Amino acid sequence: MSVAFFSGAKSFKQQWPLISARLDQVIDDGKFTNGPAVQELEQKLEVFTGAKHCIAVGNATDALIIMLRAAGIGAGDEVIVPCYSFFASASSIAHVGAIPVFCDIEEGTYMIDVKQIEQCITDRTKAIMPVHLFTQMADMTAIREIAEQHQLLVLEDSAEAISMFHNGKHAGLLGNAGVISFFPTKTLGAIGDAGLILTDDDTIAMEARRLRIHGQDEGIPYIHQTVGYNSKMDDIQATILLVRLEFLQREIARRAYLAACYNRELADIKEVFTPMIKKHADDATNAVYYVYLIETDERDNLVAHLSLHEIGTEVYYPYPLHLQPCFKHLGYQTGDMPRAELAARRAVGLPMYPDMTEEQVTLVCEQIRSFFGKGNEHERSIL
Ligand SMILES: *Cc1c(COP(=O)(O)O)cnc(C)c1O
Repeated sequence: MSVAFFSGAKSFKQQWPLISARLDQVIDDGKFTNGPAVQELEQKLEVFTGAKHCIAVGNATDALIIMLRAAGIGAGDEVIVPCYSFFASASSIAHVGAIPVFCDIEEGTYMIDVKQIEQCITDRTKAIMPVHLFTQMADMTAIREIAEQHQLLVLEDSAEAISMFHNGKHAGLLGNAGVISFFPTKTLGAIGDAGLILTDDDTIAMEARRLRIHGQDEGIPYIHQTVGYNSKMDDIQATILLVRLEFLQREIARRAYLAACYNRELADIKEVFTPMIKKHADDATNAVYYVYLIETDERDNLVAHLSLHEIGTEVYYPYPLHLQPCFKHLGYQTGDMPRAELAARRAVGLPMYPDMTEEQVTLVCEQIRSFFGKGNEHERSIL
C-alpha cells in the first residue's frame, strides 16, 4: 500500500454529482470569469469569514500583489516578512517595487518572531506581513501593538489560514487586509488556481476590485483608473469551491483527527518532533491542520526511506527566502536567520488530507519507526 503526499480523488468523486449539477448552470449563464458563481462565492465567504469585503482573484500570489498595491505599498517601501514561507510572501513585495525585510521565525511554531520585528523597522518601513503557516496564526495581538505604535499597516499572508481564528476574528481580518489561496492542496482547494483578498477596509476593497480587472471600475469598461492586472477567478473554480465550502468544517475535523493519530503514534519516537501548537494567552482557538510538519535531524534520509516505501512527503521549505538567489542583492548571508535555516534542514510535511485513512497514518508512522530502528519483528511481518 502506498500513501500519496496528497490526494483528493475520493472526495472529488463523492462531490461530483453536486458539482456537475451546478456546472450545467455555469454553462447556461455563459459567464465564465468573475460571473454569478464567483459573486455567490464572494458573498458566502463574507459570511464564513465575517469580512466586509471578499474579492476573488486568479490565485493567492496575485491576491498578495493586488493587496499590497491596494494598500498603497510601492517603490522603495519596506515590508517586514518572515524568511520561512512560500516564495510568494516575499516575491509579491518585490513585484510591487517594495523591499522585503526578513525576520527569523520562532522556534517550533514557524511563526514570525515578534521580538525581532522592532529591530527591522526603519524610516522606510510601511507594513508588516505576518504569515500564518501550516497549522496556526502568528501572534497577532503583539503584531498589532507594534504596528499601532509605529503606524504600520498589517497585511497578512493568510493564504493557508482558512478557518483559522484569533480572538474570534478570521485570519486576514486582524490587520488591514489578508488573502486566501484555493490552490488544490490547500485546506479548501479548487481543481486549479484560485485566490481571494479579504478586508474590512472600503478603500482597499475598491482598489483591489479595480486592480483585478486592468484598473477598471466595475460596470465602466475601457476606462482605466490605474494600471492593473488580469486576475479573475473562473466560475468553474468558484462552483467547485461553493460545493466544497459545505464540507469544509467536516474536513477540518477529519484533519484534526488524523493529526491526533499522528501525535499518538509518533509520541514515543524521540528523534521526531511533532507539531507545537501555541496558545496565545487570550486565544482559545484550535489549530487547522493544513500541513502536518515534523522535524528530525535525519530529515533527508527519512524522506528517502519513506519514498522507497512509496510514502509521499514534501519538504516545506528547503531554502529560506533570505538565501534565495533572486534576493542576493539584499545582502543576507547564511547564519543570519539561524532558526529558519535549522528548520529548512530538519522539517518535512507528512501526508495530511481528509481522504486519508487511519490505517494510512499508521503505515506512515510504522515506516518512520522502522527507519529509526524501533520496529519490532512482529509489526514488520504484518507489513
Ligand atoms: C499557497 C501559498 C501562497 C500562494 O498561493 P497560490 O494560490 O498558489 O498563488 C502564498 N503564501 C503562502 C504562505 C502559501 O502557502
